[in-house]
Amino acid sequence: MRIQVKRNLKVKKGLLIVPIFKDQPKTLPKFFPKNVKDFLDQLKETKDFAGKEKETAETYIKTKDFTGKIVVFGLGERKKYRRGKAREIGAAIGRTIQASKIENVYMLMLDEMEKDAYEFIEGCLMSEYKIDTLKTGKKEKKKKDKAFSIITGKNFTDDVKKAQTVVDGLSYTKDLVNMPANIVNSNYFAKEARKMARENGYKVAVFGDKELKKMKWGLLLAVNQGSANEAKCVVLEYNGGKKNEKPIVIVGKGVLFDSGGYNLKPTRYIETMHQDMAGGGTVMGVFKVLKKLGIKKNVVGIVPLAENMIDNKAYRPSDIITSYSGKTIEITNTDAEGRLVLADGITYGVGFKPKMILTIATLTGAVSTALGNKYAGLVGNDRRIRRGLEKAGRIADDRGWPLPLPYEYKKRLDSKIADIRNHDLGREAGCSLGAAFLERFIDGNKWCHIDIGGTAFTEKPKGYQQPGATGHGYKMLLNFLERA
Ligand SMILES: [Zn+2]
Repeated sequence: MRIQVKRNLKVKKGLLIVPIFKDQPKTLPKFFPKNVKDFLDQLKETKDFAGKEKETAETYIKTKDFTGKIVVFGLGERKKYRRGKAREIGAAIGRTIQASKIENVYMLMLDEMEKDAYEFIEGCLMSEYKIDTLKTGKKEKKKKDKAFSIITGKNFTDDVKKAQTVVDGLSYTKDLVNMPANIVNSNYFAKEARKMARENGYKVAVFGDKELKKMKWGLLLAVNQGSANEAKCVVLEYNGGKKNEKPIVIVGKGVLFDSGGYNLKPTRYIETMHQDMAGGGTVMGVFKVLKKLGIKKNVVGIVPLAENMIDNKAYRPSDIITSYSGKTIEITNTDAEGRLVLADGITYGVGFKPKMILTIATLTGAVSTALGNKYAGLVGNDRRIRRGLEKAGRIADDRGWPLPLPYEYKKRLDSKIADIRNHDLGREAGCSLGAAFLERFIDGNKWCHIDIGGTAFTEKPKGYQQPGATGHGYKMLLNFLERA
């Protein structure tokens, strides 16, 4: 939909949405037309509408000023209407707009809604996401983009512009995560990265098998050994900050399909494993909008790409692999592959002498046991960065929660015959253990890891989400970069 902000209601025909709180204001804003006020009075008299959250009442009118449909939309209690609620209500109204056949839609915005207008608009736009580009058969005529005009005393044009950009990047991430591995393979990723670099003037490098072998990225290559496709690593550089300012390096896991390898995943776990590149997809989404949002930071995005498959060439439990850093790794579980590909990516990131390193990955299932599907796990070695990410997540409703990284857990990864093992075969504190592996490659840099293993893909979407990819972490990272 195309959202516009207007000062006056000069409507002749269309759908008019009238949001109202449970404790409806005694005096309605001046721009509320008389026939709307009459309808609200009627609802009050008949007690047919209480203004409960998402409650609706409809009527059709035909006067010389306006012909069309009026939908009064309940906002619930005024004092509960804050950021998060505004986003939910925005999505609910967005769905009402999409469900209607009327193309011109208007909404009278109450003064009390102004403070959280950005979130309202964001929710409204987020509700529109659809993944149906691969459906054939009787193609629906492409629906015309609806025009949605928000009538308000304030000017929210910048908010609309920003929300549109943020949601575009989010939808881009969701597309990458939702699409299967036979389409989104390492070539696809490389092509997208090059295109993005061209469009935004970013520096880009794509390493393929040849370069990775030459540089000795042993871990990334080992994970990809069973795949018919090349391993790759995408490196994007955005310079929005001062010239000599150290960059923030973000490494996103790009496991394009995770069968588990010889530690094969069972039915009901394996089917959605094309989502195992969600961390990398999030990094791509962030880069999609960094320039457009004018974020004043230097940022490097690194996405190591591999496919964890079974084959006579595939790596095995018990193999010992030399990583790009030179450290040797005993493979105790081929399904703990995300940390392996990230490790080589992190080592490359260390070379930028960064201000900090952030890692984002669907790294463990354990994070979902610990935190469910609302919070990403945040584990790192720097409290300020972790708190910054927590705050960013709170603001963007893309939440994270801290998990510990004590010495005793770190020690669990000591190997008898190599420098490190990739898993200790235990079940306790799996999210911390995954992060403990990554830390061995951080090389003293400030770092925080975002584990989206429980939040990147959902069967139980929030009001402004859809089943499938959520893009969790994307808005947290953007908000963090804006303020860090
Ligand atoms: Zn795995």
